[in-house]
Amino acid sequence: MLSCHVTNWVHNVDTYFAYSVNENSVHLFNGQGGSVPRFPKRLRLLLLVAVLLIAGFLTTSVASYLVSRDAVREGIVGSALPLTGDNIYSEIQKDILRPVFISSQMAHDTFVRDWILHGEKNSEQLERYLNEVKMKNGMFTSFLVSDKSQRYYHGSGILKELKENDPRDAWYFRVKNMKKPFETNVDPDWANREKVTIFINYQIFDYQNQFIGATGVGLTLDTMSHLLKNYEQRFQRHIYFVNEAGEVMLTGNPAQARISILKQPGIRDVAAKMLNHQVKPVQLSYKLNGQLIQVNTRFIPELGWYLIVEQNETADLLPLQHMFQLNLFISALITLLVLCIAMYSINRNHSKLETLANTDGLTRLLNRQAFELVLSQKLSELARRPRSLVGILIDIDFFKRINDEFGHTAGDAVLREVAQVLKKTARTGDTLARWGGEEFIILLDDCGKAMALELAERLRVAIAEHDFALPRPTQITISLGLAELQVGETEIEFFQRADNLLYAAKSGGRNCVMVDASRCRA
Ligand code: GH3
Ligand code: MG
Ligand code: MG
Repeated sequence: MLSCHVTNWVHNVDTYFAYSVNENSVHLFNGQGGSVPRFPKRLRLLLLVAVLLIAGFLTTSVASYLVSRDAVREGIVGSALPLTGDNIYSEIQKDILRPVFISSQMAHDTFVRDWILHGEKNSEQLERYLNEVKMKNGMFTSFLVSDKSQRYYHGSGILKELKENDPRDAWYFRVKNMKKPFETNVDPDWANREKVTIFINYQIFDYQNQFIGATGVGLTLDTMSHLLKNYEQRFQRHIYFVNEAGEVMLTGNPAQARISILKQPGIRDVAAKMLNHQVKPVQLSYKLNGQLIQVNTRFIPELGWYLIVEQNETADLLPLQHMFQLNLFISALITLLVLCIAMYSINRNHSKLETLANTDGLTRLLNRQAFELVLSQKLSELARRPRSLVGILIDIDFFKRINDEFGHTAGDAVLREVAQVLKKTARTGDTLARWGGEEFIILLDDCGKAMALELAERLRVAIAEHDFALPRPTQITISLGLAELQVGETEIEFFQRADNLLYAAKSGGRNCVMVDASRCRA
């Protein structure tokens, strides 16, 4: 087996490349030792493919994300939020407005009015009544204040007599003087261990429409907060109530209680628009910490409060964003995969082409062009490391006759076989090439003339003794011209000398090796 590994620097238009010859192929390398594309166009093509793929994937991913985001946003603004607002409103009518209706019934109850008008006799009757209302409706408290006696009645008796200058009784005088028939107020309940309670305070009028007192029921704020928490869980929205001044009155989150939305970051930008007494739902949005919050708000006149339903759009977009990231990841993976496959097949084709360009098609040996590259490399190396370099030019004797006698195909087969025999006989590291027609050349590096001569002889004998299995027994021989490179000699001079020696071998009778114009062996 014959092979040779050398490295040579060849000047290219853009850069310097080195080549190495391995068996029948010559590969190019960059100065850092890594393999670089021989044609920068290859890289440009891959880059273009990568850019196109990335651009394509990015466009479709971003477009589908934007479309989905708009759909989600539209869903929130157009249906989800208003629908939730409506649902909660109808739920509230059941749960929160019920106390208003109960209070209204109490205020219009003829028994209540008659009992006050008849001089508040038999307070047990009223206590029973108040207790009944409280128990039957699951309220926390029920009460009645008579304007005439200023007494505060509740289920277990008379609590106190109201005083105009007592701040704890201010609510009653406010209710007495207000224009609307009732109010919703959050206060501690003095009758029940000062538990924070939502009171529905309803005015009572006699049959001549004269104010005669106030009545109503109360629910604890805890109960209401719990209720709101339930809503929030069911609807997956933030739900709370603010009064007309913008204070948070009822919320599932106690930390928010009594906070004014006019002062809260984000929401304060739209608070003025929210507190507009609009019974029809209003859709707004504000930004908080870079997140978009959609708000649906409506005024509930029965409560005198605004019902606010909020939805953090960013949270709803999170699955979309995850999908977008996943899309990008998959796109990057596909791009990488496509590039790897493209790179692999381009490299494979490229090295196939390289091999083809350096290989002789018939004998599979290096061709003359590749051999000359190797030789010029060796020559430039010699300057750094002087050593013996021997070239053996080989020509098949009377090859024309083979063609003539057995045909061109048989001639080709003989050429292939001669190449194989030469290859097998030569040493690893020797560079063997087809020089042309039926001529071959071997370059022996750091071998010495004597050893080269021995090898040349071995080659000659190997061919002479080889059975080429032609239709008629025919001996095939070769003539060899062996020249050692001399100091200061050019490539052309070197080849010329070898050629002259080969010519001498032919003239000397063929089937022999010629060295320095003297015949060695026949
Ligand atoms: P000599 O001993 O003087 O070298 O005699 P020769 O017949 O070998 O010399 P010549 O140069 O006259 O003939 C070489 C022949 O080799 C001529 C050409 O047709 C033949 N030849 C060259 N290349 C090929 C090839 O690829 N295939 C075949 N079959 N024949 C080839
Ligand atoms: Mg010949
Ligand atoms: Mg010839």
